[in-house]
Amino acid sequence: MIHDDNNYYQINDIYRTENNRRNKKHNSHINKEKITIVILIIIIFIALCYIAVHSFAVIQESMKQQQYEQEIIKAKEERERQQKEKEEEQKRKEEEKRQEALKKAEEERQKRIPKLTEVGRQNMENIYKSETKRAFLTFDDGPSTVTETILNTLKQENVPATFFVLGSRVEAMPDMVKKIYEEGHYIANHGYSHQYSSIYQTPQSVLNEYNQCNDAVKNAIGVPEYNSHLFRFPGGFPGGPYVDVKTQAKELLSQNDILYVDWNSLSGDAETSSPTIEYEMNRIKATTANRNSLVILLHDAQAKKATADALPQIIGYLKEQGYEFKNFYDIIK
Ligand SMILES: [Zn+2]
Repeated sequence: MIHDDNNYYQINDIYRTENNRRNKKHNSHINKEKITIVILIIIIFIALCYIAVHSFAVIQESMKQQQYEQEIIKAKEERERQQKEKEEEQKRKEEEKRQEALKKAEEERQKRIPKLTEVGRQNMENIYKSETKRAFLTFDDGPSTVTETILNTLKQENVPATFFVLGSRVEAMPDMVKKIYEEGHYIANHGYSHQYSSIYQTPQSVLNEYNQCNDAVKNAIGVPEYNSHLFRFPGGFPGGPYVDVKTQAKELLSQNDILYVDWNSLSGDAETSSPTIEYEMNRIKATTANRNSLVILLHDAQAKKATADALPQIIGYLKEQGYEFKNFYDIIK
């Protein structure tokens, strides 16, 4: 029995030892697996960390890139906006300049269109009165073949003048009328036909001739609203066989804002069929003596070439006498 017990213990020991060995082996196996798993986990963790860090760097880089691109787009947009603003500013300035030029041109144009105001009427009433010496050169019956010569002298002498044109002549030489106008002279009205029997039929026929002449002037100078408001009766206002018609016509014209003017001095170029320069100078000297305000009657007509030829001397003489030259823009304004 003891023997059996011993055997039993021996077997048991062996078994235990074997078991322990097995257990140890088993444990060792488990430990190896654990270590492997831990290592794997660590590797995975490191890999994940690496991926995470790398991904983060990539994302960050991508974000930076996006931000950079956005900044470039923004900068480009800003540049385009500034460029556009600059262009718009330039356009606005050019438009302003254009408008300013148009305004100035219109102001200049308006200055050349006579406007009859109360001041103008008073100035006309006092046309022969002046504290200082002033001279209005007035040329009747044009335009004509000598207008060019007259204009050249006026330009050379820097003298403004007034032309009482005839509608029929204006229609014959519209370019010359435009030239007179563009050179700053005052274009006034002398009717259309210059035929007394026609213009002095009735007061209305005087007004009709005024309008007919004014229409011809408008067309010639290209200014639709032009009105000189200033008439000179062919043959002059006072006296003659048509004095009654002229007196009534003066009222009718006045009602239509049209004033008239005669003259108080002259070159006498209508007094003889072939006046000479000497004759005209003598008449100028005689009729201008002791007057401050001169309205001088001269003629712009082919037959009165002597007047155009005498003009430099007439102007020279008046300048010597201290006269300042004016036209009716200084009166009707
Ligand atoms: Zn005349």
